[in-house]
Amino acid sequence: MIDNPQKTADLIFVGAKVHAMDARNAQYDAIAIKDDMILAVGSEADVLKCKGPETQLHQLAGGTLLPGINDAHLHGVWYGATYPKLMFKDHDFDWHGKLLDSEEGRETAILTAWEKLAALGITSYTEPGIGPGEDHGATGCFGTKVFDTYARLTGTKAQTARVTMLRLFGLLDGASQLDDYMSGLDQALPQTDPKWLSVNGVKIFADGIPPMRSAWTLAPYQGGGHGELLTGAGTEDERLDVFRQMIFEAHKRGLQIGVHATGDRASDAFIQALEDVGADDALRHYIIHGDLLTPEQLERMERLGIGIDLQPLIADQTHDWLAQAVNAEVAQRAWPLHLMVKHNWLTLTSDAPVASPDWRHIVVSAAKRLQQQQVPLTDELKVELLRMYTSVPAYQDFAESWKGTIAPGKVADLCWVGGDVFGEDFLHLPDMPIKLTMVGGRIVYQQN
Ligand SMILES: [Zn+2]
Repeated sequence: MIDNPQKTADLIFVGAKVHAMDARNAQYDAIAIKDDMILAVGSEADVLKCKGPETQLHQLAGGTLLPGINDAHLHGVWYGATYPKLMFKDHDFDWHGKLLDSEEGRETAILTAWEKLAALGITSYTEPGIGPGEDHGATGCFGTKVFDTYARLTGTKAQTARVTMLRLFGLLDGASQLDDYMSGLDQALPQTDPKWLSVNGVKIFADGIPPMRSAWTLAPYQGGGHGELLTGAGTEDERLDVFRQMIFEAHKRGLQIGVHATGDRASDAFIQALEDVGADDALRHYIIHGDLLTPEQLERMERLGIGIDLQPLIADQTHDWLAQAVNAEVAQRAWPLHLMVKHNWLTLTSDAPVASPDWRHIVVSAAKRLQQQQVPLTDELKVELLRMYTSVPAYQDFAESWKGTIAPGKVADLCWVGGDVFGEDFLHLPDMPIKLTMVGGRIVYQQN
């Protein structure tokens, strides 16, 4: 398949198995790049037809070539500012200290994140929650100035990952008020090239997390209480009313909504609001986390086209802690990945720096959880799990027409893994090195 037979390639890769991650699960032997785009894919003989005198021919030593990895929920600036510490791994992770208070600091954090993510093959991520609610926030990692720093660095050579952003009009992991939200929605944003920095919607924190007994749940916690909504103030009804208005207003404006909801009651309120407003899949709204989603809720979400951003490593790292907070029946059905896979569009994500952004561990964690849930690790499932890091997040980004799969005419964002990703060793994926990362036709990482 050649996009334009008149053109000669800048660069051709041969020697690795190219997995397109498209709906047909197409596989090729070679790929040609011209400028920032994929020019051709196919057999070596076919692709070499695009070779001219100036074309660089890269002979790759085996392994798998994938579309660039897209982490659909990763706090880039926070990750860069706290690197190499991770919240659920390092006991001295600083949750609330001032991390960034200068332009230089913000720039360094972003550049650190990009450098480290490039070494993992990550070429896109969603920065979930930047906005005025955090202008005086403790860490300095989520305020409006962060957006400005991103905008300034966008399109420069330093940028090695495309950024999708959700705006936040309250506190990260905290309260939000309707007045702030409404005035935030009306604030204009600086123009940026949407292929490099795209602002698609809003993030709303519905609740906290089950281990802290702050998720809004249907069943009471051990010892009582069922959490509450973080939107608005006052009674349960008043908070729910504010939450629903926030959803209606964003939906009315055509904005995508990503709701942090871990409790089943919080998820239900979101689903109910979208049912009441007659939402369909046009705006690709999604639930972030969804720890306690019920089978019935997942089916309603399927009907509305609501997706899920899931964090398997957080599930691994907090399951025992969750089991001490909720009743045994709820703990038993937490993180129903087997049902999510069946009903919903689903991305696998890290939520870094909460957990490691190393997608290889996350994919394996998801595969193992599914095995525990009696879902066998078939070849189809392996492909599906990798789609949750490539083509599905591109769908979440409204960008499936130009990224997320390998095909002529799509951007040349690639991740070369030194191993047979879809073979027998799938559960040893973390042992396979990331050998090379390309973004927009530029090689931004190469293993020594
Ligand atoms: Zn998060």
